[in-house]
Amino acid sequence: MSHSKHEPLIDLRSDTVTRPTDAMRDAMARADVGDDVFGDDPSINRLEARMADLADKEAALLLPTGTQSNLVALLSHCQRGDEYLVGQNYHTYYYEAGGAAVLGSIQPQPMPVEADGTLPLDTLAQMIKPDDSHFARSRLIALENTHGGRVMPRDFIGRVRQLADQHGLNVHLDGARLFNAAVASGQSVAELSQAADSVSICCSKGLGAPMGSVLVGSAELIKQARRWRKMVGGGMRQAGIIAAAIEHALDHHIDRLADDHANAERLHAELSVLPGIISATVNTNMVYIELESQDKGLALQADLKERGILTAGGQKIRLVTHLDITGDMIDRFVSTVAEVLS
Ligand SMILES: *Cc1c(COP(=O)(O)O)cnc(C)c1O
Repeated sequence: MSHSKHEPLIDLRSDTVTRPTDAMRDAMARADVGDDVFGDDPSINRLEARMADLADKEAALLLPTGTQSNLVALLSHCQRGDEYLVGQNYHTYYYEAGGAAVLGSIQPQPMPVEADGTLPLDTLAQMIKPDDSHFARSRLIALENTHGGRVMPRDFIGRVRQLADQHGLNVHLDGARLFNAAVASGQSVAELSQAADSVSICCSKGLGAPMGSVLVGSAELIKQARRWRKMVGGGMRQAGIIAAAIEHALDHHIDRLADDHANAERLHAELSVLPGIISATVNTNMVYIELESQDKGLALQADLKERGILTAGGQKIRLVTHLDITGDMIDRFVSTVAEVLS
């Protein structure tokens, strides 16, 4: 059986695949715009003020992507020959093409990440270097919330803050999915951001905007970040159309993240009992299912693709729920997987 043209594609590869809704496109079409490099775009200025306020920081900066937002944050915190301490499968180390090292001469000190997405505090403490000419200067600790969908435990980031203060380090939080963490945990974005000096928030993931990330922090840090943004490509002129999409998302797409989390819970519950699936986990909007082998994982995904269902992974398959995934799609996905596996 191949994918019928009447049934919508079910794309569970990532929450980045969402398309702007009609209402979001209307908001974009109506946006007041100006030249942002002159500071003249009213929609961007309003968005930056709003995001800073939401995170209870002094200032904010709109950037095209989360990767660029994280890069500019690292460049703003660290000088050439400085070091940031980071989880070895956090985005700021593993998935950003080594940008901080290549463009900033910033040395990463990666370390294994715990099962709950945190860094081991004793290892972290050991890896902070003393002031000695043999070593790079430890400058920054980089965290990630959510990591693999997991919400960072409430007290962890406070303990990292204490350690950072003892050693005179800054803390950067990659909060690509911070709104998922807020909705899932009942903490506000300000509470989740409190212990960090800077936070990068993606608007093209669960929030459903077509692009854009916002970096928040002190006025001084954001001033430096603005200069670094210029050096890595510059401002985006009339990008108020993007800011308007993001503002629309802030108005309409935050509370509904609970639906994504509920859909993920249901996927997990219904998939974990199927024969052929040997383990399954769920956190916020991410479900991971494991098959008996890489071959079986790849075969399942190839069969699903023929039926108009896109997933990502090998033996372990990641399923991400989002704005464009409906309850009916969850039903169709589970019944299709059951049929293919039987
Ligand atoms: C997606 C993601 C980013 C980067 O965002 P892009 O907009 O894709 O560059 C950073 N950190 C985490 C944890 C992410 O999931």
